[in-house]
Amino acid sequence: MENESIQFQEKVGQCNFCGSTDAKLLHHYPAGFYSHKGYVTYPWDGRQNVSLSILQCGKCNLVYQDPRFRPEHLGLLYTDGVEKQIDLEKAVRGHKFGPLLQLIKENCHFSADTRPISLDIGTRYGLLPEVLRRNGYDSHGIEFNPLCVEAAKLSGFKNVHHGTIDNLDVVMESAGIKRIQLVTMTDVIEHLLDPLGDLAKLAAYQKKGDFMVIQTVDIGSVGYKIFRSWWYHIHAQHTYYFDEKTMKAYFAKIGYEIDAVLKVGKMNNLTILQASTKIPAT
Ligand SMILES: [Zn+2]
Repeated sequence: MENESIQFQEKVGQCNFCGSTDAKLLHHYPAGFYSHKGYVTYPWDGRQNVSLSILQCGKCNLVYQDPRFRPEHLGLLYTDGVEKQIDLEKAVRGHKFGPLLQLIKENCHFSADTRPISLDIGTRYGLLPEVLRRNGYDSHGIEFNPLCVEAAKLSGFKNVHHGTIDNLDVVMESAGIKRIQLVTMTDVIEHLLDPLGDLAKLAAYQKKGDFMVIQTVDIGSVGYKIFRSWWYHIHAQHTYYFDEKTMKAYFAKIGYEIDAVLKVGKMNNLTILQASTKIPAT
């Protein structure tokens, strides 16, 4: 049974951060481990009847999914519905970016005479850019799902561009953006296939004094320590699982300093790690 869907997967074989091929098995879930009916929000294997293996690098401790879904089959994992139209003002009133905004306000300082450009990766309908716009940013978002981009446009959200980090150069050129002073990513980096390469691509659009703010699920959290293999955030959409140490190592590697780390305890055993990073002032 398991082989029926194995064609959708590929072997990763090495650590995204350090390149080591040495890894130990942290968790293995056989096909059908979770009932699909019980997992309405995140069908953890995309209802493809495949097993899920979570490995940990023997050298740098990065945790990742291997094998994982091939890029061309990732759509099987993202089956949740897209809204056709959204009440913009209602969405802004109900946003949950409070702690993130506070972190940005406290740490990201730009000269007063400019409207800094921000880019939100995986922005969906562009809610965070809309909130940042109301806080003085010339804000943009990039979203791979064309249906979300269409709904955003229809609902009055501005600057929601269709694309991914893979075609970032094309998107930036058509948007007329040469420098991104603030990059934001909320609950996105754990879905990427090449987080190191993607961060480096984004960093190429930043200069000294610019920032990235990353929010991700934290495998160093108390929630994971308690629930281990039953931790809510382990599923096939999540290709990488960071903690404070591995996240900081990524930013050190691309030449950023960490300004702040915020851990937010939440229901559902969720702890969020947010790292605001800055290119060293030289
Ligand atoms: Zn490694």
